[in-house]
Amino acid sequence: MRIVKFAEDLKEFLRSRGVRPSYVRLKVLQYLLTEKTHPTAEEIYRALVSEIPTLSRASVYNALAVLSEAGVVQALTIERHEGRYDAKVGEHGHFQCEVCGRVYDFSVDFGSLRHEALEGFLVKRRDLYFRGICPECQKGGESHGKSG
Ligand SMILES: [Zn+2]
Ligand SMILES: [Zn+2]
Repeated sequence: MRIVKFAEDLKEFLRSRGVRPSYVRLKVLQYLLTEKTHPTAEEIYRALVSEIPTLSRASVYNALAVLSEAGVVQALTIERHEGRYDAKVGEHGHFQCEVCGRVYDFSVDFGSLRHEALEGFLVKRRDLYFRGICPECQKGGESHGKSG
């Protein structure tokens, strides 16, 4: 495996985005790049604290704030009560399953969206959230994911 190289690349990447590559920031970014489940801050904390016993929730929240601010990760507001995070920052849509709570990526041609009423507005961000039931859950099979 190229773990070390990967970590070095991430450091360089963060520096290039003007972010000091602290240990926690690297770990959080690494987690988001490998687990593409759009985890919440709490899920990230729980996943990392076993590896980093001194980790605090605040440091995870701070790291996410810094990474979001730098555009390295994006915060999703697909759920009202809890933010989810995504290391895939290009424009894409998100579908959340109401049964298993999973969040799926899908590609969208944002350029084809019509929004003439926004002529003269400066659009800084476009989010597209769909909700429904994923194919797995439609099958009515056993639970395969975590519940919300
Ligand atoms: Zn589902
Ligand atoms: Zn996504």
